[in-house]
Amino acid sequence: MQQPSFSNRVDLHIHSTASDGVFTPSEVVCLAQQRGLSVIALVDHDTLGGVAEAQQAALGSGLEVIPGVEISVESDQGDLHFLGYYVDPQNGLLQDRLQAMRDARLERARRVVERLGEMGMALELAEIQAHSRGDSIGRPHVAQALLHRGYVQTIQEAFDRFLGRGRPAYVPRVRLLPQEAIRAILDAGGVPVLAHPAHSGEFAVRGVPEFTGYGLRGLEVIYPHHSAAEVERLLRLCQEVDLLVTGGTDFHGPGSKEGAPLGSLHVPMDCVERLRAAAGRQ
Ligand code: AMP
Ligand code: FE
Ligand code: FE
Ligand code: ZN
Repeated sequence: MQQPSFSNRVDLHIHSTASDGVFTPSEVVCLAQQRGLSVIALVDHDTLGGVAEAQQAALGSGLEVIPGVEISVESDQGDLHFLGYYVDPQNGLLQDRLQAMRDARLERARRVVERLGEMGMALELAEIQAHSRGDSIGRPHVAQALLHRGYVQTIQEAFDRFLGRGRPAYVPRVRLLPQEAIRAILDAGGVPVLAHPAHSGEFAVRGVPEFTGYGLRGLEVIYPHHSAAEVERLLRLCQEVDLLVTGGTDFHGPGSKEGAPLGSLHVPMDCVERLRAAAGRQ
């Protein structure tokens, strides 16, 4: 594992047990402090459920925890994720929308269980829920349940054989449209940023002008799976269409193939300052 260098002080893309991360929000904060970080953003999938605990754990320590969320969005071409930074965790409209998405996640998990059952793999919904400590159930929790039952040897095998897009137990779920996700973030006082555009795919990068028209404010340029050439291209795009640059590791914890170790990427403090200004929080 790549060791984070001392100069890395910012990580704006972190998951906890509130969604599919391995560590609780308090554990994430503890790890960030050990690694000498000054600013982190917790952006769990479709939930703000971990933010209060993380902020409480960081209280008085000098570590800033930016409230955030990562919202999955519908596109016929593939997965799109929008990050919302500095959203108000109490905002009723955003809470309602996220709750609806989590309900849809649960409903999807039920259908995945059915499909797996038809394929001869008995699994209870409760087993999946047991692997999710938070309230946002995702395919990683299904993968863990399959692993626990011995139906697969690794999490990756579960995705490759059953759960990945186009595989037999893949069930799409109801999602927001890009304009709805961006609007929900803006209405909650947040700054909407397109997550890992180049990692999502060419369609995501090409969609940037359209999303900017809906109120998108930034691009997650610095990301573990972005090549140097992709970073260059996204930086240019940010300049051309006047978007903020953000970055983070997409840390999920040990055992996840997604993301990179907490704090292992250099994200300039300048990105945070611009983000704060965009949220009206200088
Ligand atoms: P969901 O939100 O339920 O659609 O699950 C998405 C999460 O599953 C991502 O954030 C990853 O953590 C994980 N994931 C998705 N696709 C794969 C894959 N092909 N291999 C491994 N993990 C994946
Ligand atoms: Fe994830
Ligand atoms: Fe993502
Ligand atoms: Zn993420």
